[in-house]
Amino acid sequence: MHTQAFDLIVLGAGSGGIAGAIRAARHGARVAVLEPHVLGGTCVNVGCVPKKAMWLAAELAEAQPLAAELGFDLKPGVLDWPVFIARRQHYIANIHASYRKRFDELGITLLAERGHLLGNGRVRAGAQQLSAAHLLIATGGHAHRPDIDGHEHGIDSDGFFDLRAAPRKVAVVGASYIAVELAGVLRALGSEVHLLVRGERLLRTFDHDLGDVLLEAMRTRGIAVQFGHRLDRVSRNADGIRIHCRSGDVAEGFDSLLWAVGRRPSVTGFGLEAAAVELDAKGFIAVDAWQNTSANGVYAVGDVTAAPALTPVAIAAARRLMDRVFGGQPEARLDYRNIPSVVFSHPPLGTIGLTEAQARAEHGDAIKIYTSRFRPMLGALAGHPERSLMKLICAGDDERVVGLHLIGPASDEILQGFAVAVKMGARKRDFDDTVAIHPTAGEELVLMG
Ligand code: FAD
Ligand code: NDP
Repeated sequence: MHTQAFDLIVLGAGSGGIAGAIRAARHGARVAVLEPHVLGGTCVNVGCVPKKAMWLAAELAEAQPLAAELGFDLKPGVLDWPVFIARRQHYIANIHASYRKRFDELGITLLAERGHLLGNGRVRAGAQQLSAAHLLIATGGHAHRPDIDGHEHGIDSDGFFDLRAAPRKVAVVGASYIAVELAGVLRALGSEVHLLVRGERLLRTFDHDLGDVLLEAMRTRGIAVQFGHRLDRVSRNADGIRIHCRSGDVAEGFDSLLWAVGRRPSVTGFGLEAAAVELDAKGFIAVDAWQNTSANGVYAVGDVTAAPALTPVAIAAARRLMDRVFGGQPEARLDYRNIPSVVFSHPPLGTIGLTEAQARAEHGDAIKIYTSRFRPMLGALAGHPERSLMKLICAGDDERVVGLHLIGPASDEILQGFAVAVKMGARKRDFDDTVAIHPTAGEELVLMG
C-alpha cells in the first residue's frame, strides 16, 4: 500500500486539532487532519457555539418581561425555534466554511476519515495509509449516561441541540456546567424544568458562594431544584417519562429527560494500544507538561486528556505544542494555572483561581476575602431584588489576588480582563489603584473596601 508522508497527522478536527494543525502549517509543516464527522468538533457543533446561541435567545426571552415592566409597549412572545435554529446553524456553517478556507490557504490535507493508529508513526485513514514523525491525538470526549435501566428514554447535550421546540416538562439530571446552563435556557424559553441533583449543592467544585447565589436565582426563575436525588431507573408510560428514585418516589409526566452527568474521553477503537499510548487511572490519555504521551512523537491535547475540558485550553495547549515541535520554541508549553472559566447560567457566572476552601487549605489564615453584593442597575430599575455577587480572595501580606468569583449580569464579559490581572499576579492594591468605570457592574471589583 502506498504511504503518504506528512510532518504531522492530527486525529480530530475539534478545537485542539484545528488549532494545532493551523499553527503547525504556519510553521511550515506538511499537515494531514483526519475527521470522520463535521469540522469544529464538539465546541462548534454541539457545544460552546450552539449553546451560546441558545443562551442568547434565552437572554432575549428574559429581557422581554423586564422591558415591559420598564414601560415598553410589548407583550412577551415565545421563540419560534425553527427560525432561530436556522440562524444558529447558518452561523455554524460559516465557521465550517472559514476553517475550510484556512486549511486550503495553508495547504492542510483534510481527510473525512477516522484515524487508526498503527504504530511507528503510521496511521490508517479509510483505504489510505499515512505516516508522520509527529502525531497529535485530539479526539475529544463524548457525553456519558448513568448505567441504569431506561437511560435510553433521556437525551444528552447532543440531543438537546436536535430539539426543535421547548419541551413542556423536562427533567435535567446533573449539577455542573451543562446541567445548570441547559436548565436555565429551557426555563427561559418556557419549559417547566426540574433539576435533579444527587449531591447537596450546585457547581460543587466552584466557590460555594457562586452555587448558593445561582440556586436562589434558579428558584426565583421557577426551576424546581431537588437535592439528594438518587436515581434508580427510568421508565415511560402513556403520560410520559417516569423517573424512579431509590427512596421509592417517582417523578412523572416528563416529555423530556436530559442527562448532564459528565463526559468521557474518546480513547477506544483507534489503536492507542498499537501505538503504545497509555491512559491514566481515570481513563484519559496520560500526558506530561509538554503534551507528550508515553509514545515517542505522539502528543495529545484537549478533552481526551485530563486538562480542564474547555475549548480555549485545548487551543492554547495545541498552539504551544506546535510552537515547540515546529516553531523553534523549545520552552513553549501551556501554563495550566489560573484558567478563567464562565458558566452561561442565568445570570452568568465566572471564576478564576482558588475557591475560598482551596485558599484556606493552601494559605491557612493568611487570606483575606472581599465581597460585594449589589443590585445590578437594570434589575434595580424594575425593582427586582436579585443581587449580583463579586468575591476577591487575597493571600499573604501583600494581598495577592488568588481567586476571583463573580455571578450576575455581564460576569461573562467582565472576567476576561480581570483574568489578565490575576494571571500577572495583581495585588488588592493594584485593584484599588485602578480608577473605576462608572456606572458599571465591573467597577465593584475595584471599589471593594
Ligand atoms: P472535540 O472538540 O470534542 O473534537 C474531537 C474531534 O475528534 C471530534 O470532531 C471527533 O469526531 C474527532 N474524532 C474522534 N475520534 C477520532 C478518530 N479516531 N480519528 C479522527 N477524528 C476523531 N467549552 C468552553 O470553553 N466554553 C463553553 O461555553 C463550552 N460549552 C460547552 C457546551 C457543551 C454542551 C459541551 C458538551 C461542551 C462545552 N465546552 C465548552 C467544552 C468544549 O466543547 C470542549 O472542551 C472542546 O470542544 C474540546 O476540544 P477537543 O479538540 O479536545 O475535542
Ligand atoms: P461535569 O463533569 O462538569 O459534571 C458532572 C455532573 O454530573 C456533576 O454535577 C455530577 O455530580 C453529576 N453526576 C455524575 N454522575 C451522576 C449520576 N450518575 N447521577 C446524577 N448526577 C451525576 O460535567 P458536565 O456534563 O456538566 O460538563 C462536562 C465538561 O464540559 C465540564 O466540566 C466543562 O469542562 C465543559 N463544559 C464547559 C462549559 C463552559 O465553559 N461554559 C459548558 C459546558 C461544558 P457531583 O457534583 O455529585 O459529582
